[in-house]
Amino acid sequence: MRDKLAINGGPKTVNKEFIWPIYDASDVNAVTEIVQSGKWGNPDCGDEVAKFEQEFADYCGSKYAITCVNGSVSLRLALIACGVKPGDEVIVPPYTFITTASSVIECNCVPIFVDIDPDTYNISPAAIEAAVTERTKAIIPVHFGGLACDMDAIMDIAKRHNFHVIEDAAHAHGAEYKGKKLGSIGDVGSFSFQSSKNLTSGEGGIVITNDDELYAMMRSLRNVGRIEGGQWYDHYNPGCNYRITQMQAVLLSQQLKRLEAQTQKRNDNGLYLNQLLSEIKGITPLSRDEAISLHCYHIYIVKYDSTAFGGLSRNDFAAMLAAEGVPSFKGYPHPLYKQPLFQNKNFMCYAIPEYVDFTQVHCPNAEQACSSDAVWILQHAMLGEKEDMEAFANAILKIQQAVS
Ligand SMILES: *Cc1c(COP(=O)(O)O)cnc(C)c1O
Repeated sequence: MRDKLAINGGPKTVNKEFIWPIYDASDVNAVTEIVQSGKWGNPDCGDEVAKFEQEFADYCGSKYAITCVNGSVSLRLALIACGVKPGDEVIVPPYTFITTASSVIECNCVPIFVDIDPDTYNISPAAIEAAVTERTKAIIPVHFGGLACDMDAIMDIAKRHNFHVIEDAAHAHGAEYKGKKLGSIGDVGSFSFQSSKNLTSGEGGIVITNDDELYAMMRSLRNVGRIEGGQWYDHYNPGCNYRITQMQAVLLSQQLKRLEAQTQKRNDNGLYLNQLLSEIKGITPLSRDEAISLHCYHIYIVKYDSTAFGGLSRNDFAAMLAAEGVPSFKGYPHPLYKQPLFQNKNFMCYAIPEYVDFTQVHCPNAEQACSSDAVWILQHAMLGEKEDMEAFANAILKIQQAVS
């Protein structure tokens, strides 16, 4: 049976190529027009940038949006604007991309890693509550894979302890929690437009907020510390040049037109795949409760149980699934605090207090997700048709039959 598997030279289950990014002549024309206009940028980015910012703010139901060079710098802008000071603590999950936590280090603050919920892979409210100290000044919940965090609980904890909430919505463009767009619920929402993300211009980022002061500060930081109504040579705040180009802005405006339909399609495919996989022993999609009014499935995640696959390791399973033609992957091999950056406290001149020791951090749920449980199917595959979801389920069944 095993020789039928694609990894051993057998036929692939899925023969389709899933394309990303998606574009047509309208995208090409929009960028070409900007190139031909010669207005590629200006000291405060230009009209096309402001136009896209307004479109994105409106789309999210937020008052303001400020673009910047990527979804890492956007976190830095948010943290500085929220007023964090050296030595302050910022609560972050360990199952996320590096910059959720390294942006905290860049602000001379201490990332406090708090475990995820094993059913959602999002930061656990009970674990947050237990980690709050008088030094806690902010939290960065990550809507992992596009699945909304428990925002009612997080906002409640933040309110009671008086700290800021910066939503890392790099995976979550267009997704919703109780009918509200992710990123629009906390003090600031941060997004990435890097090439793998659900809305992309190759690179880029944006922050959204309803707060006038946070807006003014993040806008200033993005533009080398200049202020609204100030002089070109006057710099007030510790910013840098984090501006994007007009070419990126028009491309994003074009891409944004497709986001709603794409999000709906991934959402519907995700629900269908949940239903198909509920029939397969040893494969459990992350749970999705009623608060999740729209899921954008930047990553469709399942939990793998090797006992239903004759003891086949998660890593071998993930390799077999990818070979079958399912755009999939085992995900992060370790939680963030295991990175040499944290283990060695290799923070250059940054003022992280002596007492901080990341070798003592232990988040069992994140460790289990990394070492043996998680399998990721990527967002562009979730833009396929119903038959493709059926083929993904068949690929899993084929492996199960071959190894059991
Ligand atoms: C991609 C990503 C970022 C950073 O975005 P870049 O634009 O690549 O800098 C931040 N947080 C999460 C969760 C991400 O996946």
